[in-house]
Amino acid sequence: MGFDLRIPFRRAAEDLATPLGVHAGLWVADWSPASARAAIEGSAAAGYQLIEIPVPDATDPGAASAAETVALLEAAGLDAVVSLALDPASDINVDVSAPEGAAVSARGEQRLTRAVEFAAAIGAGYVGGVTYSAMTKYAHPATPASRENALEVLTRVARTARAADVRIGLEYVNRYESNLLNTAAQTTAFLGELDARGVDNALLHVDTYHANSEELSLADAVQDAGGRLGYLHLSENHRGVIGTGSLDWDGLFAALARGGFRGPLTVESFSPAVVSPATRDGIGAWRTLWSDPAAVAERSIDFLRARLAASAPHTISI
Ligand code: MN
Repeated sequence: MGFDLRIPFRRAAEDLATPLGVHAGLWVADWSPASARAAIEGSAAAGYQLIEIPVPDATDPGAASAAETVALLEAAGLDAVVSLALDPASDINVDVSAPEGAAVSARGEQRLTRAVEFAAAIGAGYVGGVTYSAMTKYAHPATPASRENALEVLTRVARTARAADVRIGLEYVNRYESNLLNTAAQTTAFLGELDARGVDNALLHVDTYHANSEELSLADAVQDAGGRLGYLHLSENHRGVIGTGSLDWDGLFAALARGGFRGPLTVESFSPAVVSPATRDGIGAWRTLWSDPAAVAERSIDFLRARLAASAPHTISI
């Protein structure tokens, strides 16, 4: 009997249309109580149904608690998912027989487990992101040993997540940000290997910014992901305001409609005017493409509603 891979929502109805989400990093640089309030209330006011919350650092005494986060979500009527990206100090895509390898992998597993616990504590059914590797420019290809370790760790994390009714998303990224999963086809194959280890709660997460770099087209990415596809990040080729770049949004939405996709579509746009210096440096957000989050959130949802209604009228209620 299979696990239900659909991401659960508080506001779910049987006829739930595709929920439109927004990444908290569009609004704020951290998850202090004031930031959490600004991000959650701003997202709801702009019309989104979902917010993606990067898991707060467990050692950050200034972060909003799970209980505070839940209270804000409930007051705003918003659903949440959780995300993270591993880094070179907490990477599971490592050879554990190499010096420091076991310690680095253990830190990665700890961060993934902590993200699952945070998701469960705030009622979020999904932890996605760069969960299988560090988000970094590797100096070499993935090795059989590093890949095997990533599979082993994710199998354990997925087991913990399943007990908490949480799904794990694997967001493949471009070649400059991971050496392990760069396409939907690679990610599908990797998920198949997790299946063989008994994992039935892992999903494929497409980010249009990364897919644009590596796939034949966004539609091809959706087709290759097939029934594995559970979550999307909508991000322009320049990571600025969606609809102002070169991505083929109509091709994407047509492919999603053909596939009957009903999962979340989450807007991801980052500006150095908002994000922390660490995030700015990590993703290379050197140019300030915008500086008013509320305006970007509103322009983005207006764009999405119009294009979705035109290309996939049955997937969204507006
Ligand atoms: Mn992304």
